[in-house]
Amino acid sequence: MANNCLIIGGEIAALRATKDLIAYGISVTLVNPSNELGKISKMFQSGISDFAFKKNVLRSHLEGLESNINLNLMNNAQITKIIKNQYPFEVEITQNGTTQNHVADTIIIATGFEVFNAEKIEEYGYRYLEGVLTIFDLEMAFQQQKIPINEKTKRIIFVLCVGSRTLKDGGNPDCSTYCCSYSINQALRIKKEFPSIDVVLMYMDIRTVASHEYLYNEARKSGVLFIRGRVSSIERAEDNLITFYEDTLADSQDVLPADLVILAVGGVPLSDYDEIAMNFGVQLTPNRFVKITDKPVYTSTPGIFACGSACDGVKNVPQCLSEGGAAAMAAIQFLAEKTEK
Ligand code: SF4
Repeated sequence: MANNCLIIGGEIAALRATKDLIAYGISVTLVNPSNELGKISKMFQSGISDFAFKKNVLRSHLEGLESNINLNLMNNAQITKIIKNQYPFEVEITQNGTTQNHVADTIIIATGFEVFNAEKIEEYGYRYLEGVLTIFDLEMAFQQQKIPINEKTKRIIFVLCVGSRTLKDGGNPDCSTYCCSYSINQALRIKKEFPSIDVVLMYMDIRTVASHEYLYNEARKSGVLFIRGRVSSIERAEDNLITFYEDTLADSQDVLPADLVILAVGGVPLSDYDEIAMNFGVQLTPNRFVKITDKPVYTSTPGIFACGSACDGVKNVPQCLSEGGAAAMAAIQFLAEKTEK
């Protein structure tokens, strides 16, 4: 059997595919655009059951992986050229300024998503207005036990759908699927730890799918206030932030002061990988994710498979894990067929 798979990515779907292929005796070159494995996945280690996963899930996928002799791990690496886009594939990989050519029998695209850069919405003041954070900044603060809340904090506003469900500012026109539940979970956590603080969520729609509806109900019961509104801008006043918004139920313009504004940033396809995928002959969805032409992991190019949030849109952790396993199985089958010929 031909035995070489190139996997592009470094998040949970890529890790699952890598682990399964190596267990099957297939050597893997893992081209990870990030400087560490599982960087975004770590942000989903606490919180909500379907979207989060226990630390030991990520740990068990990383354990022993980096030192496995069947893994050629390339962090900070990019595919910079497609030299041959059919079996056996050939690509140019650039890592830390050095390029090398690589031949692969099969390829798995598992690039995941990148977090929408909130700086693109200038009116929200991310990075230059003190007190404007993203849900991932807040998650890091929770993990490091450095939550920016003190006795003076009176109100915290979460702004949902930042960089999702919009064509503006390079956003993802699709729903990012995790940010309602992720934000409500954080809002609940704040409300439980600091019951006197007003916690407000400004939303377009609440999409707490399946069992996550319990979070929404629990948040309402605990006193979290939900306002159906679109935030137009955030400004700094002397002591706090002023949030300007349109109340879309009352059809009125309004303002609400807050000490912290938390932006629920969504997920967008990884920069430049739409072009890479197209050069492989792989079709894309209208929103620049890899298109799955045959469920669950087949792309339009034979021998190239895709899994996790790289394809069809942002997905939750269990979906990424199962698609990573499915992509590995599809790659194994492809390699077996090539050997038989
Ligand atoms: S999950 Fe909620 S916040 Fe995220 S994009 Fe969908 S509707 Fe917006």
